[in-house]
Amino acid sequence: MKSSVLAAICSVLLVAGSSAQHQPTTVIFGATLIDGTGAPPMPNAIIIIRADRIADVGTSSTVSIPTGARVIDARGKFLLPGLIDTHVHLEAVGLSDIGEIPPEWSTPGKIRDLAVINARLDLIAGFTTVRDLGSTAVVLSVRDDIDSGRLPGPRIVAAGMQLVRVSTDAPAASMFLEYEGRDSAHAKVRYLASMGADVIKIRLTHMRPVPSLEEVRAIVEEAHGLGIRATVHTDVPADDLVALAIDAGADGIEHNAPLRSQDSHVLARMARLRMSLMAGAGAFFVQRLDTTRAIGVFDRAQARLLPEEVLAALRAGIDSLHRQTDHMKESGWNAAHRQESFIAEVQRARQAGVLLVFGTDCGAYGMIHGEQYKALYGESNMGSSAMDVILMATRDAAKALGKAHELGTIEGGEFADMIIIDADPLTDLRNLRQIFRVVKGGGIYDPAELSSAPKH
Ligand SMILES: [Zn+2]
Repeated sequence: MKSSVLAAICSVLLVAGSSAQHQPTTVIFGATLIDGTGAPPMPNAIIIIRADRIADVGTSSTVSIPTGARVIDARGKFLLPGLIDTHVHLEAVGLSDIGEIPPEWSTPGKIRDLAVINARLDLIAGFTTVRDLGSTAVVLSVRDDIDSGRLPGPRIVAAGMQLVRVSTDAPAASMFLEYEGRDSAHAKVRYLASMGADVIKIRLTHMRPVPSLEEVRAIVEEAHGLGIRATVHTDVPADDLVALAIDAGADGIEHNAPLRSQDSHVLARMARLRMSLMAGAGAFFVQRLDTTRAIGVFDRAQARLLPEEVLAALRAGIDSLHRQTDHMKESGWNAAHRQESFIAEVQRARQAGVLLVFGTDCGAYGMIHGEQYKALYGESNMGSSAMDVILMATRDAAKALGKAHELGTIEGGEFADMIIIDADPLTDLRNLRQIFRVVKGGGIYDPAELSSAPKH
């Protein structure tokens, strides 16, 4: 007895003493692994995490559990890559267009507080990476505080401000940065990069003058020269803006305009150029709202973490959205018909080989941070299988971010970003709300603990 204890201690010391093993090791064993590559689920998986990376993936016959490792028993549970939302706005809570943020919560300091809460809500919901496509410099500082471990939250790929063409009539909002002409477009991209932007967001809309191809191309080329991707907001539908984004060589199109395009070559061109397409929020907000209504407005985390004044404004805003959609339905708007055509559009895009990715526009109207599972579930009612939806929010989202080699799948060498959930998401995506643990960069988070922080 004594000698076996001694042997165990020695082996711990040996493990700790060898140079390759200096880093803390965590083992997750027993879960059914859905690794994000599209491979069938693998029961009884063993995952070895060393420091912030995945060191090994297998089963008890291929991987041995190192002595002295921290062990997480995940038997009966399901293990997936950490989820990725390719389109959020961390500084916004879901009120834009449906109600005003209460004035006491609209000062720069309070907006930062809200961005910090929103980041925490996204992490609680299993999102280990989010791409923020339009905020202010505040989001860049929140990103840095999360990266340095001062705050809990997902990895943030941030655009900072969005680039918009100068307009004499449209007001210059704090989340916009205006350009006019090729040189100015170049300069604004360099300015955003110098502030620390990870991605460039270009806003193409008929609410402003439409830029020339030369201007949009100048933005994309300058971004690419700096090693940064450029993605484009387009109105829905707007064939001319979609064509402009494609001609300019952009990396992705936000919202669903390409799905609604009348030009049959659009999807084939996007596939050839490996452009990503966020197929989701905006196209079916009625269905999303119906889901929200069926599930309930707030989860425990939102109710615990968001300030009372913001919760009250959200409740009123969402009630008014529900009234609007009821009115649309009463006056002949056919949700079922729209759903059928969306299913057909998504299938066309998938068959054409377009990279479809998950993005919610969280922070925009009616879309509250940390409630992405409602949109994931909504996608599964829109012509995508549960596995397709999981891939859109893992492997394919990582590709759209240009980070396929380090995020989006559970494979050796990637960041140890994953979620352990209590029930099978492939039978019902709503099971994605039952998160047991979130793992980010090897750090283990208990969502219940993260949700119990004191209110501001
Ligand atoms: Zn957006």
